[in-house]
Amino acid sequence: MLQLAEIFYSIQGEGTWTGTPAVFVRLAGCNLACDFCDTDYSTKFFATADDVVAKIREIGGNCPMVILTGGEPLAQAETPALIESLRKDGRRVHIESNGTIFTDLPDDVWLCVSPKERVDPRMAARANEAKLIVDERVPEEHLPLFDDLPTILLQPEGNKPANVAIALDYAKAHPRRFRLSLQTHKFIGVP
Ligand code: SF4
Repeated sequence: MLQLAEIFYSIQGEGTWTGTPAVFVRLAGCNLACDFCDTDYSTKFFATADDVVAKIREIGGNCPMVILTGGEPLAQAETPALIESLRKDGRRVHIESNGTIFTDLPDDVWLCVSPKERVDPRMAARANEAKLIVDERVPEEHLPLFDDLPTILLQPEGNKPANVAIALDYAKAHPRRFRLSLQTHKFIGVP
C-alpha cells in the first residue's frame, strides 16, 4: 500500500514546466527534516497504485503530466510500481525529489532534484532538472554535482523578497547557466 498525503489537479507552478496542467500525487513521509519545510506530508490515506491511477483519471481526465512529490516520493518501496502503472496508463511521470535515495528510473521519467543537506551523486547525474533553494544564499556546494546540466534553477525560498533578490542577482551575474524559478502557483492562489 502507498501512503499518501493528497492528490489534486492544478498546474506546475515551478521550474522548466511552469504553467503546464498536472495532477499532483503527494506521497507521505520524508527522510529529511529541513528547517524551512512548510509542506504537510503526513499520511492522510492509503491506496494501491491502481487506486491512484483511478483517482487521476477521475480528477485529471487525460492530463498527460503526473507529478509525484512529497515529502520524498522515492522513500516508499511501492513508488516504482506506481511509476509503472502511470506509464502504462499513458501518463508522463515527473518526480520532485530531494535526490537522496537512489532509484533506477525509466528514461522517460522527468526527474527534478532539489538538493537539501546531501544528494546521492547518481541521482544528481540522472536529474533532468536541478532546483536549488535560495535561502539567504545560493547553495553553491551542490553545483559540481550538476555539471552535466546546462541550466540550473534558482528558487527563492518562500518567494521572500530578500531571497528573490539574491537569486536574481546571481542569475544575472551568471546568465548562461542560471534561471530564476518562482513559485507562481502561490501568486494565483492555487495549490
Ligand atoms: S526534503 Fe523537501 S519535503 Fe522533505 S523535509 Fe526537506 S523540504 Fe520538506
